[in-house]
Order: sequence, then C-alpha cells, then structure tokens
Amino acid sequence: MFLMKDIIKEGNLNLNKVSSPVLFPLNKDDIELGKKLLRFVINSQNEEIAEKYNLRPSVGIAAVQVNVLKRMFAINVVDFDDTLYSYIFINPEIISHSKETTYLPTGEGCLSVDRETEGLTPRYYQIRIRAYTLNCNDNSYKQVEMTLKGYPAIVFQHELDHLNGILFTEKLYNELPEATPLFNLE
Ligand code: ZN
Repeated sequence: MFLMKDIIKEGNLNLNKVSSPVLFPLNKDDIELGKKLLRFVINSQNEEIAEKYNLRPSVGIAAVQVNVLKRMFAINVVDFDDTLYSYIFINPEIISHSKETTYLPTGEGCLSVDRETEGLTPRYYQIRIRAYTLNCNDNSYKQVEMTLKGYPAIVFQHELDHLNGILFTEKLYNELPEATPLFNLE
C-alpha cells in the first residue's frame, strides 16, 4: 500500500511534467497501480487506518504523485447529496464543460503541498468527461462518459491538472468575480 513517504512533494520537478497516456490492454502493473491509488484514498478517509499509518485525508490522488508519470488517477468523493463517486480513471479527458465556473470557498488542498495556501482556484461547475474506468473487483475496464458537477467535478479537474503537470498552487486568486462559490450553487 502507498504511504505518505511514497508521495512526492511540491518542488519535485516530476509534478510539473505531463504524464503519458496509458497503453491498452492494461498490464498487471497498471491495474495494480490504479487499485493502490484508490486504496490509498479510501484508507486516508478511514479514521482508524489513517491514524495507524499517519495518512493525510484526501479525496483523490494522481499517479504522478507517487512518481509514476501515467495518465491515471483515483477519486473517492462523497458529494453533499451523499452520492459516492469512487473511480479509477485512466486516460481521462474533459470533452465539454459549462461556461459557469465555481470554486471551493475554503480553497483546495493537495497531498503534494504541505504548506498553508491562500486563494481560490477556479473550476468549471459542470464537466462532461470521457475515460476508462477500472473495476477493482474483477480488474475489468471500460470506456465511460459521464457528467460531473459541483464538488466531484472540482476534484476531477484538480486531479486532471496533475496529469498535465499543474498544481493548484499555480492557480490561486484572491477573488474570482466571475465564479460562483460552490455552496451557493448546491
Ligand atoms: Zn493534488
């Protein structure tokens, strides 16, 4: 399993690199990597496990954060309506998005950024995405398209930025007059 020591931090130049597409059919290592990424996020949200292994709570992690430059990330997010979005996304892309933008009023956080940050990060309120998703139970995978909005959409965009070498710290603004704070939209 991945631990905090496996996560590379701001300042490591690999975080600024563009990750490469994953080749299909998936090999064993890619499948294992995807499952370990999702397992990390789920473990980090489990109080007992997080305390035992000193895991920082998170809702997503990209492969590059464990120093593997492949276009893959995992999210495990419970939206405010209690819907769970738990996915391993491979070669994800945004195929369309709303004009409307939003942001987390408390600002974003990142496993690769240990310092306190101040500022708001603009994200599309709604996105239409295409990706392969990997099923943890039987290692099967399929291409999917889905619409995400609000919090899960913000998390998706944060993780997708990682695959393009971008940290949220490069997108911090004091105010975003064009955007609507997330909770005013829900
Ligand atoms: Zn991050």
